[in-house]
Amino acid sequence: MPFQGLAARLQEVRERVAAAAASGGHGQTVQVVAVTKTYGPEAVTAAWEAGVRAVGENRVQEALDKMEQVQVPIEWHLIGHLQRNKARHASRFALVHSVDSGRLADVLSAEGLARGTPLRVLVQVNATGESTKGGFPVADVPREAERMLALGGLRFEGVMTMAPFDADEHVLRGAFGGARRARDAMAAAGHPATELSMGMSGDYEVAVGEGATIIRLGTILFGVRA
Ligand SMILES: *Cc1c(COP(=O)(O)O)cnc(C)c1O
Repeated sequence: MPFQGLAARLQEVRERVAAAAASGGHGQTVQVVAVTKTYGPEAVTAAWEAGVRAVGENRVQEALDKMEQVQVPIEWHLIGHLQRNKARHASRFALVHSVDSGRLADVLSAEGLARGTPLRVLVQVNATGESTKGGFPVADVPREAERMLALGGLRFEGVMTMAPFDADEHVLRGAFGGARRARDAMAAAGHPATELSMGMSGDYEVAVGEGATIIRLGTILFGVRA
């Protein structure tokens, strides 16, 4: 059986998540998105059979190919940068985590208006100013949130962020706390922003302590990617 031990690893993750949520005190429930990028369709099926209800992919074409090969009714989330010329594929995803620019938001909103139901999206924030990462600076979110209210084709359900790789806990807490404030600013502006997508295999416990409602886990579930 491929991905043997997946259910047991998931169980261990869920226990650690419960402990981190209790100590963080934000009172949230936490959804696990299994990140299946670079793995074949059998990883998606294995995740479903282990009880996971959403998978994350960071490249559109790879995700579309896998969708053709998978039978289980799992949700597909787009977690990587979306090029504007691929925005027409956004409808294939239950949630787009990576709205990282105003221009992409405009194009996606047009897509949502054309299909007649808003697309569910998250605003990506760059909480530490790393130049290699996309997303809005946290300080810009209150102003952007006002502008985004006019985008009738999008439903902004929250915020996503990626913390610096291998940072110490203090830096991680700063980044995740910044994303939480950005989510709260979206909600204060009137968006239905309840979700906070943050935390990967190396930092999910800290993220949950800071209020994550969605964690995106690849390596810890499926092993190191080739
Ligand atoms: C690859 C990826 C993940 C998962 O990373 P792991 O460290 O393998 O858990 C999460 N989020 C995004 C945006 C990714 O690209």
